Amino acid sequence: MAILSLVVPCYNEKEALPYFMEEVEKVTKEIKGIETEVILINDGSKDETIEVIRELKKSYSCIRYLSFSRNFGKESAILAGLAASRGDWTAVMDADLQDPPSLLPEMLKAIREEGYDCVGTRRSTRTGEPPIRSFFARMFYKLINKVSSTKLVDGARDFKLLSRPAVDALLSMPEVNRFSKGLYEWIGFRTKWIEFKNVERVAGETKWSFWGLFKYSIEGIVSFTTSPLILSALLGILFMFISIVTLLFLIVRQLMYHNSVSGWTSMVCIILLLSGVQLFCLGIFGQYLAKMYTEIKRRPHYIIAERSEPDK
Ligand code: UDP
Ligand code: MG
Repeated sequence: MAILSLVVPCYNEKEALPYFMEEVEKVTKEIKGIETEVILINDGSKDETIEVIRELKKSYSCIRYLSFSRNFGKESAILAGLAASRGDWTAVMDADLQDPPSLLPEMLKAIREEGYDCVGTRRSTRTGEPPIRSFFARMFYKLINKVSSTKLVDGARDFKLLSRPAVDALLSMPEVNRFSKGLYEWIGFRTKWIEFKNVERVAGETKWSFWGLFKYSIEGIVSFTTSPLILSALLGILFMFISIVTLLFLIVRQLMYHNSVSGWTSMVCIILLLSGVQLFCLGIFGQYLAKMYTEIKRRPHYIIAERSEPDK
């Protein structure tokens, strides 16, 4: 029988998981002729998520689970889930029911009957989200789509249904700095987009702080484009040009009026400005260097402390 895998990263989701499983069971019962496996990845939760998972496994035979030795982040959890999935199709979804399982039948239909390889979902609204977060999210999508050749869809969620070739393509990418939204786009494949209204999480709290999202967006940019490096080179050229012009002006003025002390203020301004630009560019270089450093260490993406079945 064909298998549908659901990959669900869970970090402090003890309240949401029971609702999630209830909803999933309701939806998958409707889909005939397909067996469902739900892979829960406990991403080093600080609450009793793992106990809840073990308990749920007793009542739901479709559950398989992995538990990390500490919190490795959602991206690593998704990767571990994809690696463990056996499905002909694999869906990645959140545990908080913000990715409605009720969309699954429609998504499956797009792959099985309409000839798509992937189905993505996007929110048509951002209701329930702080306005400041929506504003910066929109700015981020504008910026990254300007500077990167991998185009991201604004409002796209990580909720995706992937065919086996797409899952294998994602698994073939060994990079440590994983930005799923970009990786999904990068692998290509025919993708259908389904829109839905934003729903608020069923229980528990969001794991994203503003600072966390900011770092994540820098990660996205640095992982998918090197254009900031070109920007820094262009800035360098621009300021070299300005400084040559200023220098010529100063030499001429000195020859004509001999009053060099009056240039003190402009000098300090120029020095401050230039050192600012230099630090900015160094910062950009630093970001790429740091990414290279983490990549070449080749550390594993995650460490599994416990799993529901013996090691494969
Ligand atoms: N998550 C995770 N590891 C983390 C942070 C989050 O596995 O370090 C999971 C979390 O349990 C949830 C999903 O990622 O299933 C999305 O997190 P959340 O709902 O907090 O994000 P939001 O929906 O607010 O963007
Ligand atoms: Mg959520």
